[in-house]
Amino acid sequence: MNPERRRAFVLGGGVAGLAASFALADRGFAVELLESRRQLGGRAFSSPDKVTGERLDNGAHVMLGCYASTRRLLRRLGTEQGFQQDPSLRLAFRSLSPAPRTLQLRLSRLPVPLAMPLALLGLGLGWGARLRALRGMLTSVLGAPPDRTLAQWFDRRGQRGEPASFLWQPLCRAVMNVEPEDAAAMDFLATLREAFSGSARSAAFWVPLRPWGELFGDPAPQALAAAGVALHCGVRVTGLEVQDHRVAAILGGDGRRREVGPRDVVVSALPWNALAMVLGERFRQPFAALESSPIVTVYCALRDGAAPPPDDGPVVALVDGAPFHFLLRRPGEAAGRFALLSGGDRSLDGCAVDEITARAAQQLRRYYPGVDVDGATLRVRKEQRATFVAAPGSHKLRPDPGRLTPVAGNLWICGDWTATGLPATLEGAARSGEAVVAAIERD
Ligand SMILES: Cc1cc2nc3c(=O)[nH]c(=O)nc-3n(C[C@H](O)[C@H](O)[C@H](O)COP(=O)(O)OP(=O)(O)OC[C@H]3O[C@@H](n4cnc5c(N)ncnc54)[C@H](O)[C@@H]3O)c2cc1C
Repeated sequence: MNPERRRAFVLGGGVAGLAASFALADRGFAVELLESRRQLGGRAFSSPDKVTGERLDNGAHVMLGCYASTRRLLRRLGTEQGFQQDPSLRLAFRSLSPAPRTLQLRLSRLPVPLAMPLALLGLGLGWGARLRALRGMLTSVLGAPPDRTLAQWFDRRGQRGEPASFLWQPLCRAVMNVEPEDAAAMDFLATLREAFSGSARSAAFWVPLRPWGELFGDPAPQALAAAGVALHCGVRVTGLEVQDHRVAAILGGDGRRREVGPRDVVVSALPWNALAMVLGERFRQPFAALESSPIVTVYCALRDGAAPPPDDGPVVALVDGAPFHFLLRRPGEAAGRFALLSGGDRSLDGCAVDEITARAAQQLRRYYPGVDVDGATLRVRKEQRATFVAAPGSHKLRPDPGRLTPVAGNLWICGDWTATGLPATLEGAARSGEAVVAAIERD
């Protein structure tokens, strides 16, 4: 290696770490990526099911057309075409009240600020609810103070009732992964502004056509090698040796001590809780207090010949549903195969798999009385710490993607939990990885 080249050690090979690694390599750094697991992709991964052998995602992930940084990463990995890319937003709502029915929110290809009011007015709610939902959508551009919850925002903007249960609660669970009572209105509304203030394509769901592992983790080693990044999988970072306000060495679970030269940089793309452990009590940071929220997915395969739920598109919000909030379909799959997703519902904490599948079957029968669940194969994926919680006040705990000054001058951080202006999303992660490298370049 050219001794003149600056080295960059990237810790963690999730979306943020991958984005940072490519950006550093492009800027001429000799990059070494250390990842504790055998595979890359972080919280968006797939693994073979122990019973069926099928490769299942750790949880259903969906992205939006406006995820520009994530799309850049996917292009780098050669997998941007692995999605159904709708021309505009399409979202179905399955409601039980007054009787089981499905409503569709479909945006035309007009720019979203024009298409959204028309789509809301066309949604089959009562007229009063449609007008209030429209008012809520229009005033969402005003944002909210950082200490306000989304539930409080509902009250101030007259959104209780149908606007909240059809529109805002499903969006809140999808974006924030917590109930509106626990979500910072500021972060939620900022995300909405990004998604809904541009072209029709930017607001459209991008639904993966293949397991996420095939889109991120599998192609990453080859793409990293092509960029000249040295990859070390199966290496857990256990600590950092900090001397004179500099990281002097990285300690690995493989027993190795990797020296960090005077001009080298260390970029942590670890989740906040993992970074807190690596830093230890001596360098305890405010972000250690961020809380997390779970996601539980039940993959359903009805037995052959069993009556499936109607195919209402890739994303169906189960209005007022609990514990499951969405029914998701991978485009092109048989109607009897779909996933039920629960975002941030604490009633599943500590539940055994049998109990979770029983509740999934029960809810499915309630929302789709004609569906035949008997004999179905139900497989559960539970991520207890799926996302950090963007709660009111959490902005004070989220440092910018950049230098972690209180610890060491050559330690830089990124990850979905840093201050990206977004809640925990693939896009927040990818954007933070790009942002930290831009900050290193400016330094
Ligand atoms: C089930 C589920 C569903 C989701 N659905 C969506 C969705 O639909 N849309 C969306 O936008 N977002 C979704 N998210 C959120 C999204 O996956 C995350 O925001 C994003 O993947 C975070 O990326 P990251 O790189 O910041 O962190 P991570 O993906 O957590 O990456 C960190 C990496 O560091 C590694 N690591 C940890 N500790 C160490 C250590 N000590 N040494 C070395 N390596 C270490 C980890 O193995 C991991 O690979 C979902 C998350 C989950 C879990």
